[in-house]
Amino acid sequence: MTGNPRVPAPRTAAAPHGSCVLLKHGEAFLKGRNRHLFTDRLQDNLRLALRGIGGSTWIKTAQNVTVLGGEVPQEALLERARRVIGFNSVEPALRVASDLETITAAAVDALSDARPGLRFAVRTKRRDKQFPLTSSQIDAHIGARLLAGIQGLRVDLAKPDVTLAVEIDRKETYLSWRRFRGLSGLPVGSSGRALVLLSGGYDSPVAAHRAMRRGLACDFVHFNGAPYTNPSSVYKAYALARELNRYQPPGALHVIALGKAQKQLAVAGAGRLQVVAQRRLMARTASELAARTGAEALVTGDSLGQVASQTLANLVAVDEAAALPVLRPLIGWEKQEIIDEAHTIGTAEISILPDEDCCGLLAPPRVSTRAGLPQLRSVEKRLDLEDVVEALLDSAQVLRPGVDEEAPAAGDRCPAPA
Ligand code: ATP
Ligand code: MG
Repeated sequence: MTGNPRVPAPRTAAAPHGSCVLLKHGEAFLKGRNRHLFTDRLQDNLRLALRGIGGSTWIKTAQNVTVLGGEVPQEALLERARRVIGFNSVEPALRVASDLETITAAAVDALSDARPGLRFAVRTKRRDKQFPLTSSQIDAHIGARLLAGIQGLRVDLAKPDVTLAVEIDRKETYLSWRRFRGLSGLPVGSSGRALVLLSGGYDSPVAAHRAMRRGLACDFVHFNGAPYTNPSSVYKAYALARELNRYQPPGALHVIALGKAQKQLAVAGAGRLQVVAQRRLMARTASELAARTGAEALVTGDSLGQVASQTLANLVAVDEAAALPVLRPLIGWEKQEIIDEAHTIGTAEISILPDEDCCGLLAPPRVSTRAGLPQLRSVEKRLDLEDVVEALLDSAQVLRPGVDEEAPAAGDRCPAPA
């Protein structure tokens, strides 16, 4: 957040029209003739994010700003809006009639609780060029009234503690003085659909979030080690998908029990190739699932060289088994950067919980860092891969984390996995 925390929160009582939230468009703003497609999607996503907020809301979109208001507390609107991908900034604001006296009075009221010595600047943007004063005349007028009306304020145009932004439209003017950074990026869905391979760790949820920020609507697939592991990883995957779904129109979570197939690979003699062979099977199964659910790419949380299974040779071996492009948003990230981001987006507290991951099951003491394709293929030949994939997909459970949060239907709760 920019601005000074000692500046009062927007007050609604004295506002002629009331409070609202201003959302400045991110990259959608740059999209030339396709811009309306992006802004329409932004609006749709915002509308979905407001579902169940507990009161009526309205949305207005001008050229590169969306205004959000309604009969709900401004903080609630803010909380929802800050999770919608595609806005560069999110600003609580006051909405008043576009006449100079009303605007000025609202400005004085807005800053009336400011601490003595606060340095401020006024910055006006006139979207209505008919307004009788120029932007700098309005800045000067409001600035003078603030100095006269509130003791101890100081003007500082170079390094203000708080900038009062005044945006004038024909009928309405918006005043804002707090600004939160938005999630920027492209509206979710504008780049198509992807299927995220979601484990319980830190990486794949962060990768999913990055994919969403490039406009991909995400479904999730989680492989667990059932019947040989307990369901803890499924609970984590469910909680992670629910958290991630707060940033997008909710995607589905497919849960697939991989344990028996893992055993088949071990029996076929995978040895040190076991982990990579499992990854290849995940890639094959996920590709087929994606084809059935309309996803055009897979997303994983791999980061080059992070662990033995993520050497270049091993990633190449996984790619070879995938029928779709495998996107790896974190390929060049360091672990600490990923963990920091996981804290920011709210998935870290879930990822840190202990679980029984399927990858630990049957993992060899030393994972091969240079899995050779001929060896992998000869292990796989001992299984009927098509049948294995088919059986895995047949047994998949589809969950819908985060849908109808307020009153989850029985099927929406995370059921005990098989
Ligand atoms: P993460 O923190 O995401 O678990 P990791 O560092 O543990 O990653 P690996 O276990 O090598 O890395 O997994 C690499 C990627 O493979 C994961 O980011 C994820 O996309 C995918 N993956 C691994 N295990 C599973 C699983 N059980 N279900 C679905 N996808 C998985
Ligand atoms: Mg993992």
